[in-house]
Amino acid sequence: MTTYSTISPAFDVYAIRQAFPILGRMVKNKPLVYLDNAATSQKPLSVINALNDYYTGYNANIHRGIHTLAEEATAAYEASRYAVKQFINAAATEEIIFTRGTTEGINLVAYTWGRQNVHAGDEIIISGMEHHSNIVPWQILCNEKHAVLKVIPVTENGELSLKAYQELLTDKTKLVAIVQVSNALGTVNPVKEMIAAAHQAGALVLVDGAQSAVHLDIDVQDLDCDFFAFSGHKVYGPTGVGVLYGKRAILEDMPVFQGGGEMIKEVTFEHTTYNELPYKYEAGTPNIADTIALKAALDFINTTGKAEIRKHEVGLLAYATEQLENIPGLTIIGKAREKASLVSFVIKGTHPQDIGILLDNQGIAVRTGHHCCQPLMKRFDIPGTVRASFALYNTMEEVDKLITGLHKTIKMLS
Ligand code: PMP
Repeated sequence: MTTYSTISPAFDVYAIRQAFPILGRMVKNKPLVYLDNAATSQKPLSVINALNDYYTGYNANIHRGIHTLAEEATAAYEASRYAVKQFINAAATEEIIFTRGTTEGINLVAYTWGRQNVHAGDEIIISGMEHHSNIVPWQILCNEKHAVLKVIPVTENGELSLKAYQELLTDKTKLVAIVQVSNALGTVNPVKEMIAAAHQAGALVLVDGAQSAVHLDIDVQDLDCDFFAFSGHKVYGPTGVGVLYGKRAILEDMPVFQGGGEMIKEVTFEHTTYNELPYKYEAGTPNIADTIALKAALDFINTTGKAEIRKHEVGLLAYATEQLENIPGLTIIGKAREKASLVSFVIKGTHPQDIGILLDNQGIAVRTGHHCCQPLMKRFDIPGTVRASFALYNTMEEVDKLITGLHKTIKMLS
């Protein structure tokens, strides 16, 4: 058996777990084993405290107030924008737009840039492993504009066919919208190369970073993507806040999204002039508390160190994969050469949902179903999978508990 190191001097998973109060709870009289991190991650105390500090110490609306509380809230909100800029290495804070999450970021681009730039006969390319959030907005746009949605096929081992992608790119391609890490397969797509190819064809690229932002180093300037969207709740931050990055020149040219307060410079009944970036896309009172707390989440990741986190997660994935492959009747769906720390599988003669329920009875939280990737499930001719997704606080012992739990579950179902 291969041995995998759990603890490196700079990374003590047991100390890290202490920062996440929820990990101490019991489920069905068993210690919680939380392996549903791709759906949402748990939150460290620093994030919970940031929310508490805002509401107990300086709750106020931002930007327009001149009193002390408003100034403190505005400073904290804008500090969060700067933290995000640093986190993804954007060129400027003006390129960071706060949203509700990945889904809203993608919709913002579809409703603004899309409606301005996509016309009848134009083509948009997505991939066969997209989340519904990166399918439906483009489908709506294509239907409205009589444009064509094209799909990069997925190979048997769960990678994108880059040869097919090259063939799909034409001078009609206006946009490529692709996921960097698949939430259903774990595949890490070679987005940098794909972006370069799209640019050569004259198309822009939106990267769905919902799953990648927490696992990989993100450098939007190095990737050269035109848009990048991710969600706070998957990077150890709160729900209800997300980020849309866009290149400044493109954001400047786009029409506005929602109308309201904050996104305006001057309003008369005849005419409105719009605010500068990034406020032009942030109409109304934003989610101030959660946006402020997002900075605490990013600080937590930075302090722990993404390289150390990745090393730990790769170890968990390798160990889990090896153990799962030894279970008779179990097939892993998604065997890409490069994967993030999640593993999807089916077990012969069982339904994923039954496995999920029986694992929950043992305190083990996994996700079952189509993972909002129905076309991908169809591609593999399965109703869904069981998915175990690992975070920086998961341990090898928890992988062992999953394996033991699965053996028990299979016995019960047979
Ligand atoms: N894309 C991917 C790859 C995802 O995993 C998710 C969340 N499961 C989304 C988009 C949508 O994210 P949200 O629900 O936070 O907007």
